[in-house]
Amino acid sequence: MIFTDTHTHLYSEEFNEDRNEMIQRAIDAGVSRFFIPAIDSSQTAAMYDLEKSNPDNVFLMMGLHPTYVKENYQEELQHVKEELAKREFYAIGEIGIDLYWDKTHLAEQQDAFRTQIQLAKQYQLPIVIHCRDAFDEVFAVLEEEKSDELFGIFHCFTGTYEQALQAISYNMKLGIGGVVTFKNGKIDQFLHQIDLQHIVLETDSPYLAPIPYRGKRNESSYVVNVAQKIADIYGVSVDEIALKTTENSKAIFGI
Ligand SMILES: [Zn+2]
Repeated sequence: MIFTDTHTHLYSEEFNEDRNEMIQRAIDAGVSRFFIPAIDSSQTAAMYDLEKSNPDNVFLMMGLHPTYVKENYQEELQHVKEELAKREFYAIGEIGIDLYWDKTHLAEQQDAFRTQIQLAKQYQLPIVIHCRDAFDEVFAVLEEEKSDELFGIFHCFTGTYEQALQAISYNMKLGIGGVVTFKNGKIDQFLHQIDLQHIVLETDSPYLAPIPYRGKRNESSYVVNVAQKIADIYGVSVDEIALKTTENSKAIFGI
């Protein structure tokens, strides 16, 4: 059984004390493929270190996270472009729009999102979308940029059934994580109506730990708890969820 954590910040400072043990726990639980979203240039060195220590399990993305789009975002985008020109990545991410923390940079966030979608097309890479309190704004950009070449993952999907169908219409898979295990998470109500081919698993470690770890530090081994909940929702075995969602992750990332 091979699980794929399509979204995990293993380089985060929160793991500085026990990173190797935490990664080993995940591998022992069958979670052996880690896709690593970028945040901003301050984390790039840590991402490369992580990859160097775990070359068979770690697959890096490059991008500028919407919450980190500030006055200097053009410099940050320049960094993204330079790294992309230098070496291989498996996706552009995480990118998108976040209006939960701060609405003052909406125009810059929209511009950074659009620019990075165009980079994804140029490099024929998938995008990994971060969307918080911003479905209308994210969908507006996707509507402008949609094409057969644009594809990816709508990370930490927490929208409605209609929004799920809309995301899928833009060639996006739904990244499902700990929220699906929450009592008030809502997506568990309609997920069974979405074909499994559109679903990938994620943790978003160290954030958003699933039940029974809610509120604690999240880690990639907990993908198994998410898979168990999804198996219950679809009425299939955990093995089948592992198989299908890992297949889906390969279709997106090409590895
Ligand atoms: Zn993330």
